Amino acid sequence: MKSLHRTSTAQESFDSSAVNRRTLLGAALGVGGTALLAACGSQGQGASSSSSAASASESAAASAASSSASSAASASSAAPSPVASATSASASASASASVSSSPLALAQPSVESQPDSLRCLVNKMRPFEQQDWEPSDLVEFYGHQLRAEAAKAADTMIDAAATDGVTLLVSSAYRSYAVQQQTYQYWVSVNGQQVADQLSARPGYSEHQTGLAIDFASPEGCRLEECYRDTLAGQWLAKNAPRYGYILRFPDGRQSVTGYRFEPWHYRYVGVQIAQEYVSSGAKTFEEFIGTGAAPDYASAS
Ligand SMILES: [Zn+2]
Repeated sequence: MKSLHRTSTAQESFDSSAVNRRTLLGAALGVGGTALLAACGSQGQGASSSSSAASASESAAASAASSSASSAASASSAAPSPVASATSASASASASASVSSSPLALAQPSVESQPDSLRCLVNKMRPFEQQDWEPSDLVEFYGHQLRAEAAKAADTMIDAAATDGVTLLVSSAYRSYAVQQQTYQYWVSVNGQQVADQLSARPGYSEHQTGLAIDFASPEGCRLEECYRDTLAGQWLAKNAPRYGYILRFPDGRQSVTGYRFEPWHYRYVGVQIAQEYVSSGAKTFEEFIGTGAAPDYASAS
């Protein structure tokens, strides 16, 4: 994944276009676009569905976790190394499908004000308010970085999978704004923007920037491809990840809500409590669970 991130040297900036998107949508809605769109950067009051009781305990858990950041950092030594060889360009070979033509979904007020919250929702309608926001508690994680609490939980999960004879490899984890800019530009250069927008988030819009998302891989291959679902790792994660606080973020058949095709390799840490609430709720997407609108696409095409 490192090679992927660093393949592109294009330096085209997306800063101004992102600002313009928010400004334009905000104008269209007659309100401050930034305040409306920044799920993790502004305080909202629209929590309608999911429980609000989780917030307090979750904050406590996050605080507790950050105090043990250093121990989590050293816990991943016996890890399998990231898969580095397989090209993921083939993931887009079948990417000729048309872009979702869903009408523009109106952004909803955020239910979470802090980008470091485990409830933070980032998607195509909800970029980081501070575009280049960085977590303060990143730790080393299988050659990548992840927030301390998420890394500790993932270590436990990876060990549990190993006990079951399943190897979970880590393909990618935290990606900074700058790295995401390279990643996105790589996909644009390979596939064009229309397809790239279905495969990779624009910088400032990626869940990987939260430090809470992991792209897993498998010794069987199928890296960043739908067939990952059928690998031992993919099957194990689908069944067990919520027990360790991780949820499948981009499920099959939910592109109209999440904005992304099925990504059986991408898991998001929300903590055990929220993950259990998520499973119990029957929600099919984190958007649905948090109670925001769908985010099928960016507010503006460019
Ligand atoms: Zn991912």
